[in-house]
Amino acid sequence: MHFVVCIKQVPATTSVQIDSKTGTLKREGVESIINPFDEYAIEEGIRLKERVGGKTTVISMGPPQAEQALREALSRGCDDAILLTDKAFAGADTWATSYTLSRGIKMLSEPADLIICGKQASDGDTAQVGPSLAEMLDIPHVAYVRKIVEVKPGYIKVERMLEDGIDILEMSLPALVTVVKEINTPRLPSLKTMLAAKKKQVHYWNKETINAEEDKIGLKGSPTQVMKIFYPPARSGGERITGADAKEIVNKLIQKLSSHGII
Ligand SMILES: Cc1cc2nc3c(=O)[nH]c(=O)nc-3n(C[C@H](O)[C@H](O)[C@H](O)COP(=O)(O)OP(=O)(O)OC[C@H]3O[C@@H](n4cnc5c(N)ncnc54)[C@H](O)[C@@H]3O)c2cc1C
Repeated sequence: MHFVVCIKQVPATTSVQIDSKTGTLKREGVESIINPFDEYAIEEGIRLKERVGGKTTVISMGPPQAEQALREALSRGCDDAILLTDKAFAGADTWATSYTLSRGIKMLSEPADLIICGKQASDGDTAQVGPSLAEMLDIPHVAYVRKIVEVKPGYIKVERMLEDGIDILEMSLPALVTVVKEINTPRLPSLKTMLAAKKKQVHYWNKETINAEEDKIGLKGSPTQVMKIFYPPARSGGERITGADAKEIVNKLIQKLSSHGII
């Protein structure tokens, strides 16, 4: 079976600075890592291959430095890596990102049986790309998967995490799942897989390779428009209620709340 894992390279920090002139994030000089949720997607892709046989391909859309994330996935045991990279992909919103990934996946020499995404990215944080990619590929999907109970050609059974329990769902394959961190514990690369990865190549695919329609990629193909990007104003401190003891403080608080009509 063919397992395809989508990974995104993200800044290693949640405090990326904003360029006030361009309204974009300042990514230069910021260390990059694999999106933390995608670590679980990679691990699951490798485990499934080990469980039922086949191969695991890892794919990312991003600038050339995203090769580093793909190399890391290869060193853990993925078999093949594709980097969708082209200046024309820059400025993509989640729609254009999903379209570009869908074109890349359609171009794979061996069709994907199961596509695995992380639950969400730590920078964009929308959790839209997985479901949107499944729609563009016209295949079923389940989000928040915490366990793959069974997988075999044409069939998958999964557990979806809910706030108050789980759903057990079956789908026909090909399908897509987005996974939560409860699904596994990601492994570290072993010496054997690291040495094997050194011989592997990361394939660079551009807009021509994936036969992408110009008006569906990058900024031009993005229906979302960022009107303004800014830091929210810092909150001024609230009023501190003091008193000799807890009883006095509570009484003052009750008076305050009732004077504002809150209680
Ligand atoms: C108008 C606009 C312009 C933008 N311009 C840029 C820009 O120039 N550069 C930029 O980096 N971002 C840009 N973004 C942000 C970009 O759209 C999102 O980061 C991207 O679409 C992924 O969405 P997300 O981060 O919310 O991922 P989520 O939907 O939260 O990710 C869920 C999962 O989808 C998969 N996934 C997500 N993105 C990728 C990817 N690129 N490759 C492979 N798998 C992936 C991963 O498995 C991930 O765990 C822009 C956004 C807007 C609205």
